[in-house]
Amino acid sequence: MSLFEKFSQARALEQALMEMPINPTGTVISEVVSASEAIIGGQLKIMAGTNNYLGLTFDADCVAAGQQALLEAGTGTTGSRMANGTYQQHLYLETEIAEFFDFSHGMVFSTGYSANIGMLTALLNTEDSVLIDSEGHASLFDGCRMSGAKIYRFKHNDPEGLRKRLSRLGEAGKDALIVVEGLYSVRGDCAPLKEYVDVKNEFGSYLMVDEAHSLGLYGENGRGLAEDQGVSDEVDFIVGTFSKSLGSIGGFCVSNHPELSLIRYASRPYIFTASPSPSVIATTRQALKKIKNCPELREIVWSNAQLLHSGLSQLGFQIGADVSPVIGIPFEDREVALTYWQDLFNKGVYTNLILPPAAPDGGSLIRCSVTAAHSKEQIRVILDAFDAIKNS
Ligand code: PMP
Repeated sequence: MSLFEKFSQARALEQALMEMPINPTGTVISEVVSASEAIIGGQLKIMAGTNNYLGLTFDADCVAAGQQALLEAGTGTTGSRMANGTYQQHLYLETEIAEFFDFSHGMVFSTGYSANIGMLTALLNTEDSVLIDSEGHASLFDGCRMSGAKIYRFKHNDPEGLRKRLSRLGEAGKDALIVVEGLYSVRGDCAPLKEYVDVKNEFGSYLMVDEAHSLGLYGENGRGLAEDQGVSDEVDFIVGTFSKSLGSIGGFCVSNHPELSLIRYASRPYIFTASPSPSVIATTRQALKKIKNCPELREIVWSNAQLLHSGLSQLGFQIGADVSPVIGIPFEDREVALTYWQDLFNKGVYTNLILPPAAPDGGSLIRCSVTAAHSKEQIRVILDAFDAIKNS
């Protein structure tokens, strides 16, 4: 087989997408107007498919912090912390992220993806067992696979399924790692973390929770779903990203296990990649302060989430019961999902089209998300677009 023969399937998919008036996987955002609007294909669109949950990407203080850091420390670090040095600001952020979660140790990575790969490949080896929710993010699966550990998937959001799997492992269950998320980013449903903690304690295993989509949204202090469900103290590792509610880029892990500091010596995605640039660190630190000091942002995003969820339910869409800023609208037929996405786009609403294999259960989904930056009028426009297409 020639090197490129294996791309024939990808080529066919690309061809089909190119024939569409607008390619949903190759959307070019020519101008970002605000945290909730952009120019795409020459037209103004409402962005109802981002992870900018608190709308912080244009926050004046975050922008100013980034600008200041650019002026003071330059455009990039040009290397990894192990080889080229840690900037003082990296350490400040690590202390601040640990304090934010009320954990003793924090570690920062260059992306959320590399945080997951970096943590899982360092924690696990071929002797270990890892149990992972079947709808976990690709970075979690990739990290588990790359570690060489024995992988056991359990049914999505099913603590009983997890318990059964663990009990079959016998002694190995004691040291096994359980990997779940907080808020799941495609369907917008939440993990039963309390029940997972019960199972973990029953077997003496370890629990890692990816709060990528729940940070800034859940809990009294915006720490995420573990805080919301009152189980933060029972989670061994919280991982997440700066690229969603914090409107920046980067990843992290916080833990009360002192061994977290040793992960630095064992984690290739930490050792062999450039560290986050000064402006990224500065905007992230400022955004963390916003989560702490501006609880009203959470109130706005939740009232917007309520509005979208109740509006779509009233229109008769088959959506999940959990109200969250993310709503996944399932379609059995890929073509119908594609046409729906296209029609929404033509009506000025940009959403995310999620096709197999990215969508759970082999189906297709339109993912719609709202943020604190959306006005009630914009949410009305989004709902009106869904309504008009449904009745056309
Ligand atoms: N974990 C989850 C649950 C995610 O949804 C994502 C990104 N979609 C990541 C990790 C990776 O984060 P990043 O894009 O910041 O690398």
